[in-house]
Amino acid sequence: MTTPLVEMDGDEMTRILWQEIKDKLLTPFVDLKTEYYDLGLKHRDQTDDQVTIDSANAIKKYGVGVKCATITPNAQRVEEYGLKQMWKSPNGTIRAMLDGTVFRAPVLVNGITPSVSTWKKPITIARHAYGDIYKNTEMMVAGGSKAELVVTDTDGNESRRLIHDFDGDGIIMGMHNTDPSISAFARACFNFALSIKQDLWFSTKDTISKIYDHRFKDIFAEIFENEYKSEFEKAGIEYFYTLIDDAVARVVRSQGGFIWACKNYDGDVMSDMVATAFGSLAMMTSVLVSPDGKYEYEAAHGTVTRHYYRHLKGEPTSTNSVATIFAWTGALGKRAELDGLPELATFAARLEKATLETIENGIMTKDLVALSTLPEKQGVGSMEFLDAVAARLSNTVLK
Ligand code: NAP
Ligand code: MG
Repeated sequence: MTTPLVEMDGDEMTRILWQEIKDKLLTPFVDLKTEYYDLGLKHRDQTDDQVTIDSANAIKKYGVGVKCATITPNAQRVEEYGLKQMWKSPNGTIRAMLDGTVFRAPVLVNGITPSVSTWKKPITIARHAYGDIYKNTEMMVAGGSKAELVVTDTDGNESRRLIHDFDGDGIIMGMHNTDPSISAFARACFNFALSIKQDLWFSTKDTISKIYDHRFKDIFAEIFENEYKSEFEKAGIEYFYTLIDDAVARVVRSQGGFIWACKNYDGDVMSDMVATAFGSLAMMTSVLVSPDGKYEYEAAHGTVTRHYYRHLKGEPTSTNSVATIFAWTGALGKRAELDGLPELATFAARLEKATLETIENGIMTKDLVALSTLPEKQGVGSMEFLDAVAARLSNTVLK
């Protein structure tokens, strides 16, 4: 390796897997070069979350990062870890700093059939990674209050809209997005569709949100018409916009093999639905792509807390490491592409192959046993699975 990968360590069970993946699948085979950032909750608290900002800046500097799942603190976590404050989601912070788009795609493996029987090809969800409720301001409102939206322009003129006259107590939320961010999102989606030659779908709720969501629709349409239409025609792919309700119905009846672009919240929710229907959240990969071509790879699932507590009690666990392995292979593969390192690219491809072949040969974690249609299969522990992949990988690499 010539340029270091930005390595962001995380929390709980995925932190345990992170170290094991490095020890068993990476360092024995690759002269691994990383710049390490510990995004574990304790260290985020110690650094007042500066480490998260530093890691995002490092991705901007080097271009490629790989991230372990991290805890997004809630009230219970504040107590559990004795936190100074309820730190923001690291993913949210990094996404906002890179203003990127998150593409999530399932890892398909023989023997695991999607629960939606028509799905034959992966569905990639493109999630807008900036704004909306992830950057909101919310308040409790006392009965008798009047809530208004107030915008002050550069000349100091105010525009006002009544939100609600509250008779009783209630709640209120303000959120925003920006034309540049929506435009970057649109371009990232169009570019990604061209690069993998798949149709692009985009959905919002513009019939209800006639200004906010409608703006997304218009920006996409304008950029498509002006910049991408002929390239899409040449590539034989199409872009189409539809209401989110209609999109959901069409997705379920489809064969897959397209990109579904979603607003931030829709993408968060729909990616979990799509991942689960494809088999397992543990088989879903995720990459954040910034408009200027910086990449951050991670698994789509969380820190698998329940398994971690079992692990702490010394009980056996069977946590699926596939998405985390694919985060590493994605990042190493991208580094290889950018730095012109064919051997590193080959290694990343071999590691993916060894991982899938292990499962296709019947050795898998327990979450997959329930899903696999293979006649002979064995549910193994977290570490046994990694050992099996390592054994297969050694053979592949030595050949
Ligand atoms: P989660 O960690 O994804 O786990 C939810 C459940 O899904 C698990 O209890 C497990 O089910 C199953 N599961 C998920 N990943 C699995 C894997 N690799 N192998 C086997 N089973 C897997 O979600 P959560 O419990 O809602 O969140 C836990 C923590 O993760 C939270 O603190 C949250 O803030 C954080 N989180 C982080 C990210 C991120 O960093 N990208 C994303 C989401 C959540 P069973 O227990 O039934 O086996
Ligand atoms: Mg989610």
